[in-house]
Amino acid sequence: MPSSPQTAAPVIVIGGGLAGLAAAEALVERSRDPVVVIEASGRPGGVIQSVRRPGWLVERAADCFLAVRPEAIDLVGRLGLADRLVPVEPAARRALILWEGRTVPVPRGFRLLAPGDLEAIRTTALLSAAGRERVLAEATVPPRDRAAGDESLESFAIRRLGREAFERLVQPLVAGIWTADPARLSMAAACPEFLQMEREHGSLTAGERARGAVGHQASGARYGQFVALADGMETLTSALWRRVSEAGVTWRHATAVAVTRDGPGYRVHTAAGPAAGEAAAAVVVACPAPAAARLLGGLSPPIADELAAIEYAGSAVVCLGFDRSAVGHPLDAAGVVVPRVAGRGCLAISFASEKFPGRAPAGGVLLRVFIGGALDPESAALPDGQLVERAVTEAREILSTTASPRLVEIARWQGAMPQYHVGHVERVARIRGHLADHPGLALAGAAYEGVGIPQVIASGRAAGFSVAGAHG
Ligand SMILES: Cc1cc2nc3c(=O)[nH]c(=O)nc-3n(C[C@H](O)[C@H](O)[C@H](O)COP(=O)(O)OP(=O)(O)OC[C@H]3O[C@@H](n4cnc5c(N)ncnc54)[C@H](O)[C@@H]3O)c2cc1C
Repeated sequence: MPSSPQTAAPVIVIGGGLAGLAAAEALVERSRDPVVVIEASGRPGGVIQSVRRPGWLVERAADCFLAVRPEAIDLVGRLGLADRLVPVEPAARRALILWEGRTVPVPRGFRLLAPGDLEAIRTTALLSAAGRERVLAEATVPPRDRAAGDESLESFAIRRLGREAFERLVQPLVAGIWTADPARLSMAAACPEFLQMEREHGSLTAGERARGAVGHQASGARYGQFVALADGMETLTSALWRRVSEAGVTWRHATAVAVTRDGPGYRVHTAAGPAAGEAAAAVVVACPAPAAARLLGGLSPPIADELAAIEYAGSAVVCLGFDRSAVGHPLDAAGVVVPRVAGRGCLAISFASEKFPGRAPAGGVLLRVFIGGALDPESAALPDGQLVERAVTEAREILSTTASPRLVEIARWQGAMPQYHVGHVERVARIRGHLADHPGLALAGAAYEGVGIPQVIASGRAAGFSVAGAHG
């Protein structure tokens, strides 16, 4: 990608993933010039990567985003891609859970933690009679004292719904989204909506009733609210890069190693650049928290220490393409999630070709097998052969595949998913407090206030706007 000589000190954005690109767009909107994006990998988009194979469209990471928040939809509109949005296919707007060797639908109306349809709870094959009664009694469980502070998702779910619903329903749904350890995942950071429901309505059951959710058909992850881009998620980040580069933002393929102070501005040091670094009027650090911690260690030890304490989990996504005739399961859902207590070798299998059109050739089926996560880090690091063998075995035993896959694509994501552990909201508030001592320095990305695509866009835009007026 082209780079051009700069005259005035630029705003430097470190990291050209979605957050960094969103920050660059915000700077362009504020007519800030020059703006330079420094990116270690040589390609824009970060973890958002779509791969084309003849007839197949494979998402290596994100495959869709939540449309009920405005940020991603607005961005798609600005990029002229609105007509390329595709909703989840109606037949795939539900999730399955593997239980006792069978794939059982998530009870109708059940939203991650909240039972929206009590009739569906009464009849689900997923829970024992005692487990069903316990969920039905959720409305009688008193709310937790607010003063008690943050709580883990596991604690919240067991307290409100009972251990059985936690193990068989909540844990696998959550693992499929955050690849997290629910005993450490922060309710305040990951699921504030449900905490608020408990506070405002006394229970999740009452909260769901108040929002008129009873009778809603979609279950699990509210699939009707998700959309994808017909030509792959990467069209979002490549179009965003095109937009900002046409507006004059320049690109540097380099690894930033440090940010230091330079009068009222900063200097950004790169691995192969001049020792003195490059002057910047302002800096947006939009790389993952561990890299951000290393960059900022000299400038602000308190910020670096807080950033270094944000842990990451890894996972592997093994994409398998089959002939439809070689899959015994009807694939009548978005996918199947696997409870940890089932003791299997994967977190989930997403039915990619059933969720969105154009992911597989005619007569083909594309599955994405998720392996690893915070509770099983070794599996994500298995050698390729073993990883594929694991994925193929899981597909065979869970979905009754009967032949070898026609397509195999491995995507490894070591340390790619930030973990919002208990206390995360307070940690981010402390980081923001320390940032006040460093005008013109901003942080953006999935590490802070949401891992989903809309939240990451929001984070990048907020960071870009916050430094747009800085003069080094
Ligand atoms: C497997 C997987 C599946 C997902 N599925 C979904 C989904 O379906 N829907 C959804 O909404 N979200 C999903 N997400 C989450 C979402 O895609 C991410 O949170 C988001 O894309 C992260 O963007 P980012 O810019 O914060 O980070 P990244 O994409 O990690 O970008 C950071 C960039 O910084 C660069 N960098 C790092 N260090 C340096 C350095 N020192 N100098 C210069 N550059 C550096 C990296 O190379 C990278 O390009 C998924 C994530 C993963 C990993």
